[in-house]
Amino acid sequence: MTTTTDVVNPATEEVIEQVHLLGPEEVDSAIERAAAAQRGWARLAPGERARLLRRAAEAVDGAAEELARLEVSNAGHTISNARFEAGNVRDVLAYYSGAPERLFGRQIPVAGGIDVTFREPLGVVGVIVPWNFPMPIASWGFAPALAAGNAVVLKPAELTPLTAIRIGELLLEAGIPEGVFQVLPGKGSIVGWRFVTHPLVRKICFTGSTDVGKKIMAGCADQVKRVTLELGGKSANVVFADADLERAAASAPAAVFDNAGQDCCARSRLLIEASVHDRFLELLEPAVRSFRVLDPADESSQMGPLISAQHRAAVAAFVPEGAPVAFAGTAPSGPGYWFPPTVLAPVAPGSAALSEEIFGPVLSVVPFEDEADAIRIANDTNYGLSGSIWTRDVGKALRVARAIDTGALSVNSHSSVRYWTPFGGFKQSGLGRELGPDALDGFTELKNVFIATDD
Ligand code: NAD
Repeated sequence: MTTTTDVVNPATEEVIEQVHLLGPEEVDSAIERAAAAQRGWARLAPGERARLLRRAAEAVDGAAEELARLEVSNAGHTISNARFEAGNVRDVLAYYSGAPERLFGRQIPVAGGIDVTFREPLGVVGVIVPWNFPMPIASWGFAPALAAGNAVVLKPAELTPLTAIRIGELLLEAGIPEGVFQVLPGKGSIVGWRFVTHPLVRKICFTGSTDVGKKIMAGCADQVKRVTLELGGKSANVVFADADLERAAASAPAAVFDNAGQDCCARSRLLIEASVHDRFLELLEPAVRSFRVLDPADESSQMGPLISAQHRAAVAAFVPEGAPVAFAGTAPSGPGYWFPPTVLAPVAPGSAALSEEIFGPVLSVVPFEDEADAIRIANDTNYGLSGSIWTRDVGKALRVARAIDTGALSVNSHSSVRYWTPFGGFKQSGLGRELGPDALDGFTELKNVFIATDD
């Protein structure tokens, strides 16, 4: 039986494409093809693998505007974000194209011979991608995996398969051999879960919700399958009284409302030192009200719609009648899954808006008394992905950065992710690290070989 899914533009609610969803037999054949292709890919001279990855980066660069437009219509991303995301795929490919000739082992002093280590590819890697950043997250998995000599089967999210499918075509056109990189659209419970259970898939690189991540980790245990998890977040933006309050307030909306808040790194908790709480909210209000929520294809749009009607209903449930809305921005009416940027203050400790990942444009404000109180509140969550600290005191910035249990922090800035620095979560935000020089460790096994030199 052939199954298809309607791909919908979340800004217009129109069906833009129908995509075939793979069934179990098709997934198994793709995995077998990948396993066969991987052997040849791993045997290629390192310089040749590097050259093909550079060509893949060039192919993505040549199609960057097409990919960006596709993401605007499939995911409702603003055109400026979507251009950045297509460029990120290019840059991640280019960065890891430098890896094949640099997958160094060590030579370790031993008696009676020589001891050397090798970084061996794992085989077939299954990359499972969520709908919130379809392009970058796919490439953070597939680019280092391919560079290390693995084959990749990649499952895009049901709602957002289009850019991944196009990237699959581009890599093939660039010369990545048939079977080495396959994009397999389908349901999580069928395609994604088969990656977990199929013995030829040696590693799962999963990005998505913490609930599904836990199931995947448990499933991987059966074969002691390697797993990297990039999961949810509830990150804190901590503003101390001595900070540049104007800059902190001007940048706070984008830190949570970018991508309509559908960002695992969204600073969705704003912790403000009590002595400047009211002043800070005065500065924040105009910045929120003027946040441009427009047709994502509009060059000046800062925020588009949410991904689906179902997701909008889930976000709206965090802002029921009588919720403490301090102020809110605007959003278009009419078709599209729109939700205005919304600031909740004061938010009761223990409330769902403060503890759960909303994954929408809703910011919860909490006052704090001093440095210790700020650290306590920031760490009062099961998550630990990202966060920001605003202060002019360098010592305090470093003390607080070291004390917050989270994987990627920024001081006087909201940046979390650079393709050449490590990214990943503490606690229930994840396991393992992506990007940067260390990501290759997660796509290789370390092998030790001793060669006797004694007569
Ligand atoms: P999700 O967990 O529902 O789905 C993620 C992917 O897993 C999809 O491709 C889905 O089809 C697949 N899947 C679902 N059930 C599966 C199963 N039983 N077996 C195998 N695969 C299965 O997440 P989502 O709603 O698409 O994405 C939003 C979540 O992703 C948020 O929690 C967000 O914080 C998280 N996220 C984390 C990061 C990070 O780097 N830490 C980045 C982006 C998104």
